[in-house]
Amino acid sequence: MRLSRYFLPILRETPKEAEIVSHRLMLRAGMVRQESAGIYAWLPLGLRVLNKVQAIVREEQNRSGAIELLMPTIQSADLWRESGRYDAYGKEMLRIRDRHDREMLFGPTNEEMITEIFRAYVKSYKDLPLNLYHLQWKFRDEVRPRFGTMRSREFLMKDAYSFDLDKEAAVHAYNKMFVAYLRTFERFGLKSIPMRADTGPIGGDLSHEFIILADTGESQVYCHKDYLDFAVPPADTDFDDVAGIKNTVAKWTSLYAATDEMHDAAAYEAIPEASRVSARGIEVGHIFYFGTKYSDPMAATVQGPDGKPVPVHMGSYGIGPTRVVAAIIEACHDEAGIKWPAAVAPFTVSVMNLKQGDSACDAACEELYRTLSAKGVDVLYDDRDDRPGAKFATADLIGIPYQVMIGPRGLAEGKVEMKLRATGEREMLTAADVVARVT
Ligand code: ATP
Ligand code: MG
Ligand code: MG
Ligand code: MG
Repeated sequence: MRLSRYFLPILRETPKEAEIVSHRLMLRAGMVRQESAGIYAWLPLGLRVLNKVQAIVREEQNRSGAIELLMPTIQSADLWRESGRYDAYGKEMLRIRDRHDREMLFGPTNEEMITEIFRAYVKSYKDLPLNLYHLQWKFRDEVRPRFGTMRSREFLMKDAYSFDLDKEAAVHAYNKMFVAYLRTFERFGLKSIPMRADTGPIGGDLSHEFIILADTGESQVYCHKDYLDFAVPPADTDFDDVAGIKNTVAKWTSLYAATDEMHDAAAYEAIPEASRVSARGIEVGHIFYFGTKYSDPMAATVQGPDGKPVPVHMGSYGIGPTRVVAAIIEACHDEAGIKWPAAVAPFTVSVMNLKQGDSACDAACEELYRTLSAKGVDVLYDDRDDRPGAKFATADLIGIPYQVMIGPRGLAEGKVEMKLRATGEREMLTAADVVARVT
């Protein structure tokens, strides 16, 4: 992408309405624009990050055996009457009437709809286990939408729903998602800690929230410090190895970790004082096992091995990609701007032409830009007719991990300068070395 032709509406002023750093930086870097309270347009730079976050979520869901589909945003109220949640859900639900005066709603979650799809097609225990997920916009009319996309009214969610014959199988489905979540958050460059959590309006009796520690987090959380150094399960984890997956979950639940609602002061105080962490946290994911809470009232049964109908045991598993983008910025930034982990960076490399119009600089930049693009690297070529200082500031603000500065002085020695956004480290390299480093 040539910056001269891109749409990157950077703000010079710090927006006053933004209370936390991620919101400020998302506005300043031209990633999002608020259209109504808690409703955002994703501008090109922000969308690139959101797409990378979603791609990682998909890869890890698929790896664990979940299957992607896509359900609509608009749902019928009747479906929610079947489960009894239509009245119970309250004001967070955006209720809509269509031209025929039918009651509809903008989905805040999809337990009912997925249960309806399941019961229409799946009739036998032989078709289990099944885990279906989608990435779709949700609407919740939050009392206090705030902090940008961290707590918005319209937001993206990956929600997965598992179906099993009995509790034991359903717990394995839960454990698989638990492990997939550990891997997903690690790939975002985040340290997530699974914490015992309240099940809220989703219901059920087994639940963990995946929490990122951050001062701006809205939850008060308590945990053992050692979780911060636990190793995350590798990419070649065998998700069919029931005992292996169970062991991983056992390890990750062996020490104390709970959100405020589930906090047990006595258990927490049993931790040696130096290992106690009492902090603010951001909920980036939440998993639930809730048995037959929906399959019972909605008659989602399969024929069991003995021929009798059995209500399926279910779980649901959510990650908020639009909140994750903000959470990554909370964890990865400095005075100058965002420091994207390479896996989610909107562009991996920025090529800065320090003397636009100088034939040697232009030629070297063009060539590096073309070479990297041809290799599939996401590269932003800053070809604007602007001061070097402005180019450095832009690259730092929008957080490009590898920044390559090409100017006459370096070129005279056949070199370009590379700076790593994460550490500030700088090095003079040949263009060929740059290509080798970033591919
Ligand atoms: P919170 O406690 O922050 O209100 P929740 O417990 O209501 O979240 P869940 O129903 O567990 O949320 O939804 C799953 C995931 O969806 C959350 O873990 C979070 O990542 C995301 N999410 C929920 N509400 C919002 C929101 N208003 N804006 C952005 N993301 C959200
Ligand atoms: Mg909520
Ligand atoms: Mg919550
Ligand atoms: Mg939750």
